Amino acid sequence: MSTADQDAGRAGVPAPPHVRLSHVTKTFTRGGNGTRVAALDDVSLDVAKGEVFGVIGHSGAGKSTLIRLINGLETPTTGRVYVGEHEVTALSERDRRDVRRDIGMIFQQFNLFRSRTVAGNVAYPLKVAGVGRAERDRRVARLLDFVGLLDRAHDYPEQLSGGQKQRVGIARALATEPSLLLADEATSALDPRTTAEVVALLGRVNRELGVTIVLITHELDVIRAVADRVAVIDGGRIAEAGTVYDVFAHPRSTAAADFVRGALRDRPSAETLARLRRTHSGRLVTVAIRDRTGFQTALAKTFLAHGVAADIVFGGISELQQRPVGSLTFELTGPDGPDGTDGAVDAALAALRRDGVDVIEEDR
Ligand code: ADP
Repeated sequence: MSTADQDAGRAGVPAPPHVRLSHVTKTFTRGGNGTRVAALDDVSLDVAKGEVFGVIGHSGAGKSTLIRLINGLETPTTGRVYVGEHEVTALSERDRRDVRRDIGMIFQQFNLFRSRTVAGNVAYPLKVAGVGRAERDRRVARLLDFVGLLDRAHDYPEQLSGGQKQRVGIARALATEPSLLLADEATSALDPRTTAEVVALLGRVNRELGVTIVLITHELDVIRAVADRVAVIDGGRIAEAGTVYDVFAHPRSTAAADFVRGALRDRPSAETLARLRRTHSGRLVTVAIRDRTGFQTALAKTFLAHGVAADIVFGGISELQQRPVGSLTFELTGPDGPDGTDGAVDAALAALRRDGVDVIEEDR
């Protein structure tokens, strides 16, 4: 977030959102029989000025439709879309073009002109906007320097790696100095290392140039690396939205929980659990890591106080927005209660729950 926005927040005056979707539904008619498909169903969200807002969802969830509604390439069936002070849904096609001039786009397949050089690709939107030659050359050089490709200015896209092509895509998207950048699966065609480089560049675009970014992806790692807030979209609906930490450290929706499990791999799969059960006779219990100093010491103390032996048999701890996230799976064994139940283990788990710890019983 830029300092100006933070100041506005501190003074108790909320900055107006950069992008707002208000109760947006988009239905398409599919096939010969006229079946209506809701690509988006009552979607409302606000993107603040200067933030990186991630939208994560599986294929077909409605992400591209959402992007196309923001840049006015699609019109919602019902609901309103605002960009800056404009209600895009109320504008004519000609006025939408003006709004689009303040929006940069980058794509999964880069969409570069094969017949133009790197410099020619970046210069193209400036040419269209009528920027004169000298100013164009100056801006192109500055942008290529920013994305680290000044020495490749005269190469053609096919001479570049995927990551370099996307850096050209980013330079081109920024050429007209938009305040909003829409990234449509911009790293999905790249390997993990190149993805990290491009995502780091997007972070610089946000921080150093103050550009608001709406980034749609199916990769949690991309969201983790760069987004401030995230919306999880599932079947055309927002399953949940909030800060990246809140949504993914404590997911409330199954859609968000599935993404976390897939990315962190901290929870045992059904097969792993079956194998663990064959080789461990104690209770298998997973505890979600809390961002709290001394959390694991407190766990150990609780187990010890109840005479419970706790062996870690699975788990993973990672970071989200510089805070720990993940879970540990324990095999717990302790003295039976008077009626033959797991008295000590039950008492220890009850104590943890009283202390606000998320406890998942893998056996039940
Ligand atoms: P995502 O980007 O998350 O993969 P999309 O927004 O492309 O999802 O699509 C959401 C749903 O809307 C899908 O079921 C898709 O088939 C449907 N859809 C998208 N665009 C059209 C269209 N122009 N005509 C008919 N159906 C569409």
